[in-house]
Amino acid sequence: MVLVEDQRETIASWLRDADRIVALTGAGISTESGIPDFRGPEGVWTKNPAAEKTATLQHYVGDPEVRRQAWQNRLVAPYWTSEPNAGHRALVDLEHEACLDTLVTQNIDGLHQAAGQDPALVVEIHGTMHEVTCMACGDRTPMEATLDRVRAGEDDPPCLLCRGILKSATISFGQNLVVDDLVRSERAARDCDLLLAVGSSLAVYPAAGLLPLAARAGAEIVIVNGEPTGFDPVADAVIRGPISEVLPHIVGG
Ligand code: NAD
Repeated sequence: MVLVEDQRETIASWLRDADRIVALTGAGISTESGIPDFRGPEGVWTKNPAAEKTATLQHYVGDPEVRRQAWQNRLVAPYWTSEPNAGHRALVDLEHEACLDTLVTQNIDGLHQAAGQDPALVVEIHGTMHEVTCMACGDRTPMEATLDRVRAGEDDPPCLLCRGILKSATISFGQNLVVDDLVRSERAARDCDLLLAVGSSLAVYPAAGLLPLAARAGAEIVIVNGEPTGFDPVADAVIRGPISEVLPHIVGG
């Protein structure tokens, strides 16, 4: 961990003194829970760039074979068995011990809520893996019920109401974000006095755009990530190291 003691104290005091903190989390906070990220050294796309297809709306809607593969991937995905780690728990502590206003997560795994974060503070800007949505009628159902149909032999289960295409309730590439979630996230970034970005390559927009928005509004920017990000030059502090060690260290300060 490249965090020296005086930095820890400084960042801990920023967190203590801030009136409105926004946390922005990405896949990196969940890798230590056994869920690989996309672009880190062990990332799903780093190892297999072709896997990006199943997360692209155009391919998903247009190709039944991509959907069949996506359902097989969902069956064995780590989301169903993973547990929150010390990084998720540190953000729950931040909620209790400081002024956490909003937690915008790019993650679809539900681990912040599983760790005990107040769901009212969490914006799942890329949706959730725990539900399924019909692309035609918008019906939403629990993921588990549809996975049962796949296990029972349906390759590409259609909507039970209208026979439309079903997909996890996540935002695929090429799909619009939910406007209310985006508006709420942008407003929170504009109004915060400290933005803490954790475990994100900050390469995916519009989520990454929250950083310049907060910086322009005068907020302090703290980035915690294992690798450099394109926003390191605008940050007030950059901490490189394993999130499950760094976050408890600065929040507990
Ligand atoms: P990303 O894969 O682009 O970046 C993750 C970053 O986290 C990388 O820079 C990596 O170096 C860093 N990292 C990984 N493990 C770390 C650790 N233990 N300590 C410190 N740093 C660590 O992820 P992103 O920026 O969130 O964007 C990718 C998209 O992938 C998002 O839209 C998200 O929805 C989706 N995704 C979500 C999950 C999940 O829900 N857990 C998993 C994979 C991908």
